[in-house]
Amino acid sequence: MTVVYSMQHRDPRDEDLIKGTTGDWEIILGLEVHAQISSKAKLFSGASTEFGAEPNTQVSLVDAALPGMLPVINRYCVEQAVKTGLGLRAKINPYSVFDRKNYFYPDLPQGYQISQFKSPIVGEGEVVIDLAGGRSIAVGIERLHMEQDAGKSVHDLAPGNSHVDLNRSGVALMEIVSKPDMRSSDEARAYVTKLRTILRYLGTCDGNMEEGSLRADVNVSVRRPGEKLGTRCEIKNVNSIRFIGQAIEYEARRQIEILEEGGSITQETRLFDPKAGETRSMRSKEEAHDYRYFPDPDLLPLVLDQADIDRIAANLPELPDDKKARLMSEYGLSAYDATVLVGEAATADYYEAVMKSGKPGRDGKLAVNWMTSDLYGALNREGHTIETSPVSPKQLGELVDLITDGTISGRIAKDVFDSMYKTGRDPAEIVEKDGLRQVTDTGAIEAAVDAIMAANPDKVAQAKEKPALAGWFVGQVMKSTSGKANPQVVNEIIAAKLGASSDD
Ligand code: MN
Repeated sequence: MTVVYSMQHRDPRDEDLIKGTTGDWEIILGLEVHAQISSKAKLFSGASTEFGAEPNTQVSLVDAALPGMLPVINRYCVEQAVKTGLGLRAKINPYSVFDRKNYFYPDLPQGYQISQFKSPIVGEGEVVIDLAGGRSIAVGIERLHMEQDAGKSVHDLAPGNSHVDLNRSGVALMEIVSKPDMRSSDEARAYVTKLRTILRYLGTCDGNMEEGSLRADVNVSVRRPGEKLGTRCEIKNVNSIRFIGQAIEYEARRQIEILEEGGSITQETRLFDPKAGETRSMRSKEEAHDYRYFPDPDLLPLVLDQADIDRIAANLPELPDDKKARLMSEYGLSAYDATVLVGEAATADYYEAVMKSGKPGRDGKLAVNWMTSDLYGALNREGHTIETSPVSPKQLGELVDLITDGTISGRIAKDVFDSMYKTGRDPAEIVEKDGLRQVTDTGAIEAAVDAIMAANPDKVAQAKEKPALAGWFVGQVMKSTSGKANPQVVNEIIAAKLGASSDD
């Protein structure tokens, strides 16, 4: 795999530049992703993190910040952060510190968020992203730190009143900060997609963007190619990969317009409105010193044992990049097919189960095609997932074998697949019981061809003049054999007959 190590000075690609009225512009993007740690309990309390509970039913005295309550760190959340750091090929810091980040929100009863500032638990790492045309680049990770989530203000329950739901207050988050290494909305979308895949493989975040488990703050600035970095704006809490792309496109154009008219960009925090497709100013951007960070006196510095880090490292699952390389070498897959398969661990698992359920030498490329077109088409249509697929990997593999060994044609295979999906029967049984076996017996096919030619002497004469008309006979033979005739044999016999009779 060729990976281009992306840096701030990476040469801009023409296709990434935005044409302004006064020349070209380059977009510079850095992302801060908040990923909710998969854990039954919160970061500093034993309250449940389950999604969808009645408001304020999962709030301990610590989460409500009652006076005198003390936070106690959740060891499992720490291990999840370390595991994520290792998955991002990042430096794990054995010594890190929790700080108080002071600000006022109605849904933040402490009046500060416990976060990590100067000494995060994870340092520099990287994420390799896969782009169109087989291009890959590495996006640098600046840091990963742990912090608490805030509660939620609810403004639409009663007119004139706002309510606060503290269920989410104190839930453990990982804030994963990238370097400003991305140059287009495509790259930013690919980055979040890949990061989400890695987190899901690791089991450290479920990546559910609709439920808010993964959300991105997108830092956007523009510059003339080769010039120094411009002033950036931060678009807060974008919660879908599609919206990330739209927000970037809008924001870059807004900044370019201002600059081309001789204005300047004000550093600020903005919100993306998906309905209007635009970003709007939310507040002027705070600097770090505005938050008055200081080490939380209620928490000791977090010191990790190297033995614990080693144990977590030894138990990491196979990660997407490694799985992709292995699928390519083991099954001869293209980079494209392998990338599609490793997007979800369950998809790659299904594929491997298909390949391992039969004799060695099963057609790996044909299996991918059947999975990504017919199987996924049916699953999406019927609201199933790969985990609940009515067609088992073994059955799909058997279908592939029936096509490869010529028992059925690719066309008939579609009918067999539909029947497998609906009834759960094995493909071989469907082929036998429904009499779908492909006719390759040349005698039988020849008889069918003769019958059609005898009934249509005028067409025979025409086809002898114009060989392109032979296709009509192919269609008739397929029809008279209910699609079971081997199309290749049919073609050969018809060509021979039309050719032979022209010598008469
Ligand atoms: Mn944060």
